[in-house]
Amino acid sequence: LVVMAGVNKHYGALHVLRDIDLTVHRGEVVVLLGPSGSGKSTLCRTVNRLETIDGGTITIDGVPLPEEGRALARLRSDVGMVFQSFNLFAHKTALENVVLAQVKVRKRSKQEAGAKARALLERVGLAAHADKYPAQLSGGQQQRVAIARALAMEPKLMLFDEPTSALDPETVSEVLDVIRALAADGMTMIVVTHEMGFARSAADRVVFMADGALVEESTPEEFFTSPTSDRARDFLAKVL
Ligand code: ATP
Ligand code: MG
Repeated sequence: LVVMAGVNKHYGALHVLRDIDLTVHRGEVVVLLGPSGSGKSTLCRTVNRLETIDGGTITIDGVPLPEEGRALARLRSDVGMVFQSFNLFAHKTALENVVLAQVKVRKRSKQEAGAKARALLERVGLAAHADKYPAQLSGGQQQRVAIARALAMEPKLMLFDEPTSALDPETVSEVLDVIRALAADGMTMIVVTHEMGFARSAADRVVFMADGALVEESTPEEFFTSPTSDRARDFLAKVL
């Protein structure tokens, strides 16, 4: 589905992505791990072109990422992204948040978008909260609204960049459970997380980055029991 080949990116003198070769197959759950500053967020953001690259290629279903215009807008809705902060519209209800882009981007009727939004809110366990505003919802609930909003675009791929890092410990699992259920339904996803239990149980493949380079790529079992690089061993010693 997604093929990154020889991807490089610099921020001035800083080489943030170094010769990244990464393929994500349809239905696969790739968990991206690595120390702070290793380039995980930057890598995610190149896939929906929130960041440009200065070397290499990225294709989705064999098509190079579009650079501008309607095709770029289309890409952004085909590749759903959920960040640490929920970024919901504060003056709109949960339901309206999930409806909005469906009408604007996908050109669905209000009625169709509303029906879809209700179904998605139910899927993430928020049917009873559809008419609440973000401030009336817990962090975990807001993040689930954000996930429903991304899903409403019927994305081919979901990017999760530390979706639970800003949450209270007791609400982390409600969000991880939603992501796990999505994975079980066959959604293709790249997940950056510091939740090692989730990485181990939900990933099809673990990709470990350090200093902008892809250092190790293995099954979660291999990665957590016998990492091959010193960098990965150091990392695991700190986080486990
Ligand atoms: P974390 O685990 O802390 O989220 P990360 O692995 O996601 O880290 P990135 O956010 O991708 O790391 O950052 C990689 C490097 O690029 C860091 O050294 C960071 O300071 C730098 N960087 C990120 N965004 C920019 C920017 N817009 N301009 C300049 N440097 C940047
Ligand atoms: Mg990051």
